[in-house]
Amino acid sequence: GGGAGPQQARGGAIQGIRSIIAVASGKGGVGKSTTAANLAFALARNGLSVGILDADIYGPSMPRLLGLTAKPEAIDEKRIKPLEAHGVKVMSIGFLVDPEAPMIWRGPMVVSALTQMLRDVAWGDLDVLVVDMPPGTGDTQLTLAQNVPLAGAVIVSTPQDLALIDARKGLAMFEKVDVPILGIVENMSHFVCPHCGERSDVFGTGGARHEAERLGARFLGEIPLHMAIRERSDSGTPIVVAEPDSPQARAFMDVATGVL
Ligand code: ADP
Repeated sequence: GGGAGPQQARGGAIQGIRSIIAVASGKGGVGKSTTAANLAFALARNGLSVGILDADIYGPSMPRLLGLTAKPEAIDEKRIKPLEAHGVKVMSIGFLVDPEAPMIWRGPMVVSALTQMLRDVAWGDLDVLVVDMPPGTGDTQLTLAQNVPLAGAVIVSTPQDLALIDARKGLAMFEKVDVPILGIVENMSHFVCPHCGERSDVFGTGGARHEAERLGARFLGEIPLHMAIRERSDSGTPIVVAEPDSPQARAFMDVATGVL
């Protein structure tokens, strides 16, 4: 590593950041932010120095997911310091604006805000910056994928057909801008009852695995629909940090292994 990753070839590499990975989904609510956060902590548990950039301008999740309420400090006129959660550096538009105020920005404003969050934040030396992308495959996402020197993209999908069709659009979008697809994660793959531990395939399962195979993309793993994943997120400590030895955390660790 450390050499000419794909991001170097795309120009505009960010000094000190070795590789930038986007976590994307075709639509909202599939667990993209949950996956981005847990993937970041799973990578950190592998000994990497990691940052998270919450690029979901319209619905930033990281402040709540990571229990961060402080305002980032300015270092000088040009640069601000990221916040930190459990050893991972984090930047989110949610730290800078009123979380209650609806964001009605137009595409170009979103892209310029994100470019600033990427380039004017003192990330320091990072092995990996995980970018939680805005959901969808529209112009904003496309421009973002072009402007951010991405090493690759992880696509999150639920097993449902609709989500898979959307995920397919996500794949096509990244292919269009020559960003390698690192693989597909199936989230909410099956339900594990917190009381009896029994597994139920609520949405049907294996859809993402088949789709990944069909598209020639890597299948990075199944994340169960589990109450503890939601509860830990809501309380500001993602499952990989809160219950590192649980099967749910291990599912995310496996995704990280696939990405590495
Ligand atoms: P997105 O970023 O795709 O909009 P989120 O990561 O915000 O989705 O997840 C949406 C909601 O579903 C959140 O409340 C989150 O805690 C919950 N959630 C996501 N993945 C799981 C899972 N595997 N098990 C249980 N709840 C989940």
